[in-house]
Amino acid sequence: MGRLQKILIPLLGLVLAFWFYSARENFKPEMLKGKRVIVTGASTGIGEQIAYHLARMGSHILITARTEAKLQKVVERCLDLGAASARYVGGTMEDMAFAQHVVREARTTLGGLDMLILNHVGASYFGFFDGDVEHVRKLLEINFLSYVAMTTSALPMLKESEGSIVVVSSMAGKVGFPFTVPYSATKFALDGFFSSLRQEFNIQSINVSITLCILGFIDTERAVRSAAALLRDRPAPRDECALEILKAAALRRRELYYRYSSTRLPLLLRDCAADLLDYLVRSRFRLPGTPGT
Ligand code: NDP
Repeated sequence: MGRLQKILIPLLGLVLAFWFYSARENFKPEMLKGKRVIVTGASTGIGEQIAYHLARMGSHILITARTEAKLQKVVERCLDLGAASARYVGGTMEDMAFAQHVVREARTTLGGLDMLILNHVGASYFGFFDGDVEHVRKLLEINFLSYVAMTTSALPMLKESEGSIVVVSSMAGKVGFPFTVPYSATKFALDGFFSSLRQEFNIQSINVSITLCILGFIDTERAVRSAAALLRDRPAPRDECALEILKAAALRRRELYYRYSSTRLPLLLRDCAADLLDYLVRSRFRLPGTPGT
């Protein structure tokens, strides 16, 4: 009987897990057709690729970043790829008034909003924490406070459309990473704010989904330039990453882990073997002065 229980219970668990996952809705590009979407940090990198995927799916796109010449080119390409409409607003997310202005543009030009994709990231250094408190404050404004400001301004429109908020974060926002202390702090802040907000939406029956995206190393120019020499990992492709973000958003998933093997799997150790997880994270870096690195 005991042996039977040992076999039956895991088997039942497997059957239930299979049923749960197979019953979940599958992604179809039509889900995003005609949707009104803001993408921040879309002049380059993952944000640019998100804009192109949305364009192919026939969405209305409003993109933003600081470099207007690049935004102009991304908009032109989006229109070529089939976007229902594409436009940009240039400015810096250091300025909360600008963050709110972008959202107002969506109301004026798109008549509402279905999805807010918060993806931009301010420049930081890759090295030991240098004690520059002013840099931490500035990075918190760009990487965190502007996300809060845009969300707050967009909420009335998102409630109206029963839309979605997508927050692009990092493995460095779930576990301590060396050499990126200020960046890591801003990403942890996003988890705290948006995971708590999701709880409140649930209590208040607000039907706005929040998808937190936990990304590993992705092959964007900035990331490869700053981290490739120190990181042992091979970066994942940015266009695939962008598509996975959109799939998770359209399916209203609470979190996305990309790639799963380098994010979700190691994080399973967090509660039972935190020191081992810290060691594994450190071992992914080539430390300065380490022989054979
Ligand atoms: P990029 O550096 O390639 O792109 C960053 C974008 O943000 C650009 O469009 C940039 O445009 C914009 N931006 C930078 N500073 C500001 C500012 N002050 N105000 C407004 N916009 C600004 O980043 P990635 O594509 O690599 O990263 C995208 C997201 O993915 C980020 O949130 C990042 O933390 C996350 N991520 C990336 C990983 C990676 O390995 N690439 C790993 C884990 C997470 P402009 O300079 O024109 O303003």
